[in-house]
Amino acid sequence: MLLTGKTAIVTGGSRGIGRAIAVALAAEGANVAVIYAGNTAAAEETLNLITEQGGRAVSLQCDVSDSAAVADMVKAVKEQFGTIDILVNNAGITRDGLLMRMKESDWQAVIDTNLTGTFYCTKAVTKWMMKQRSGSIINITSVVGQTGNAGQANYAAAKAGVIGFTKSVAKELASRNIRSNAVAPGCIATDMTAVLGEDVIDGMVRNIPLGRVAQPEEVAKAVVFLASENASYITGQVLNVDGGMVM
Ligand code: NDP
Repeated sequence: MLLTGKTAIVTGGSRGIGRAIAVALAAEGANVAVIYAGNTAAAEETLNLITEQGGRAVSLQCDVSDSAAVADMVKAVKEQFGTIDILVNNAGITRDGLLMRMKESDWQAVIDTNLTGTFYCTKAVTKWMMKQRSGSIINITSVVGQTGNAGQANYAAAKAGVIGFTKSVAKELASRNIRSNAVAPGCIATDMTAVLGEDVIDGMVRNIPLGRVAQPEEVAKAVVFLASENASYITGQVLNVDGGMVM
């Protein structure tokens, strides 16, 4: 197993891509803290999937856009498992709308969760990772952060910000043996994309060289790789898991 004895925090671990990441990290031997916003039943389901396969996990409700809550959450994980080796900043939301009609609250909510939440969680774990002189941070961005997308100015700005943040953290913390990378999914079958409707998905698939939507587990495999020593010389990179959408 690649991650025996390691502890991972996965934000947005209750559903979708985050759940697949939590399960995959646990399958490689990591203790996993499943962080979620409010869906306790879904978080319990992730825990069940992990414990059924013999893994160790806890779930903690924590709004990543609340810095005090994030500090408490990281402290609780440290007390529970003793170390924090891997952080996956996966929690994310969309509030789509054309620029001229975009409410300030929809702009702010998307920036707060996707970008500021990533900052709060990273800052909180860095304290421990610097002391132990090791760590791997993986931020889930999006192809939309690379290309832009009509109707998603807030989301694209947040996800582009995550890429700049990832690279800056990589430069700052490399000397402490802390790696920082991003994964950019394309179109993945989750609750987030289920609301888009068949026509929109079909339109996206026409622009995907591999010709299909992906499953969350296919993103999780890339995250496990970046979390592990197999990626020991990789930092500051964006790994696209998008069927060739952006190249
Ligand atoms: P889902 O909508 O399926 O799940 C979102 C997760 O984030 C849930 O676990 C939710 O918790 C959690 N969450 C939302 N807001 C907060 C918050 N403020 N604090 C803590 N947790 C929060 O999303 P996906 O699995 O589709 O997406 C996961 C990530 O991947 C996101 O960052 C998304 O932007 C990105 N992505 C997704 C793509 C896709 O095609 N699906 C493509 C590219 C990027 P709860 O269950 O409690 O609500």
